[in-house]
Amino acid sequence: MTYNTTSGNRGLLQAEPLIFETGHATGTGVDLPEPINTPNKLGGLARKAALDLPGLSEPETMRHFVRLSQRNYAIDLGLFPLGSCTMKHNPRLNERTARFEGFADIHPLQPMATIQGALELMDELAHWLCTLTGMPAVALSPKAGAHGEMCGMLAIKAALEARGEGKTRKRVLVPSSAHGTNPATAVAAGFIVDEIEARSDGRVHVADIASKLGPDVAGIMMTNPNTCGLFEPDIKRIADLVHEAGGYFYCDGANYNAIVGRVRPGDLGVDAMHINLHKTFSTPHGGGGPGAGPTVLSTALAPFAPVPHIVVRGEKRELREHTEGTQAFGRMCAFHGQMGMFTRALTYMLSHGGDGLRQVAEDAVLNANYLLARLKPHFNAPFGGQGNEHRPCMHEVLLDDSSIKPKGVETIDMAKALLDEGYHPFTTYFPLVVHGAMLIEPTETEPKRELDRFADVMIALAERVNAGDVAHFKQAPTLAPMRRLDDTRAARQPKLRWRRGDNGAGAQVAAE
Ligand SMILES: *Cc1c(COP(=O)(O)O)cnc(C)c1O
Repeated sequence: MTYNTTSGNRGLLQAEPLIFETGHATGTGVDLPEPINTPNKLGGLARKAALDLPGLSEPETMRHFVRLSQRNYAIDLGLFPLGSCTMKHNPRLNERTARFEGFADIHPLQPMATIQGALELMDELAHWLCTLTGMPAVALSPKAGAHGEMCGMLAIKAALEARGEGKTRKRVLVPSSAHGTNPATAVAAGFIVDEIEARSDGRVHVADIASKLGPDVAGIMMTNPNTCGLFEPDIKRIADLVHEAGGYFYCDGANYNAIVGRVRPGDLGVDAMHINLHKTFSTPHGGGGPGAGPTVLSTALAPFAPVPHIVVRGEKRELREHTEGTQAFGRMCAFHGQMGMFTRALTYMLSHGGDGLRQVAEDAVLNANYLLARLKPHFNAPFGGQGNEHRPCMHEVLLDDSSIKPKGVETIDMAKALLDEGYHPFTTYFPLVVHGAMLIEPTETEPKRELDRFADVMIALAERVNAGDVAHFKQAPTLAPMRRLDDTRAARQPKLRWRRGDNGAGAQVAAE
């Protein structure tokens, strides 16, 4: 069989049909005996038509999935500069411990006496998270950053209701530079979002917040360092003002990698903050999961933390569904959270130690500033300082396309051209407050020669723009198995289901 490859490349880059297109209903990789005289107990619920599973032999199945896996770009293949995502190396030691059978092969409904080691690990992780953040309590169960935001906002809601102000305090202040999950969470939790404009220096200003405070304000959701890669220097003053006005301070902790071991959010007046274990603490992510978003809570919010709680009694640990003297707002998921991520994150913490975690933040910031210094002469860095002045960033480099756009090349074209150079692109068009944003997060796990290689490629592309080779960018990517896709159509009219007789989604895109 010959496949049409969209790149025209017929080397080893095979276009991969769907498994349903290659398999046959009658094929199989196993040889099981016919069931003998099993009575059908399903009544009218028994399936009438064939199951229509793709039947393939074991080698065909292996090859299909291995080929797919090889079409994936991963941190294990090269630098993954996606801003705001902290795509750092996932140490293999984490994987070793996560597979220990006492952590990997247990069931959440097992008797507590048989899972004491797992509970101790969760308790130890909680202790590290509280110590690092300077916060008294943590809910481990949220399964992602956005889920952690939900946890924090529901704790705020419960605290307001306990004060009798649940109906009056509905407004939540959210800076315009926020990650989209922040306003989405506030609305999903029943609040009304009031946007605060980011000033021209990429930061939120005390005066803008002060003017918005009032008796109907439930709180504020801020990210620090913010999504422009800048530390918000007035955060303590802002927290004080919000508290004086009777509100709570939610901090989006997705950028914690920039400050872990150096800044304790508890000292800044934070009431709730999620920590993306899959970003800061090196548990693998991408492709939608799994993640873990433990949420640290201040003294004011701790009583409302969701169940279950880990309680230590003598030598034993227990998961409690109710603790005397607390007013848990409910629960975040059926069981206790992502055990595999807990194990990986604690392994990472223990192998780095407190001083090593501090160095993580320092090196992440150093790497970003090195890239900023190399790229600034070739691209516009809206907050990076003019001319020779270097205004430091935190762990992310924010560039925009204002210097290349007049020559006909936009952020999306740069991103596609990077694909042809063998790199996963940076984050495009986010944060929204910067037009044509290119957000680059190298992380601390890239050595200098990798940073240089990436910078050289970016600079060579900038020079290509200057030389007027716009066509190169508009055609890109030419070497990827898929050329430019219709992103808007894919988002607006997603094809979620394959039916027999359909052309495979891949084949369809390729044909267009
Ligand atoms: C990643 C991220 C989130 C959401 O975290 P998920 O784990 O993807 O749900 C929220 N805010 C910021 C700034 C982020 O970078």
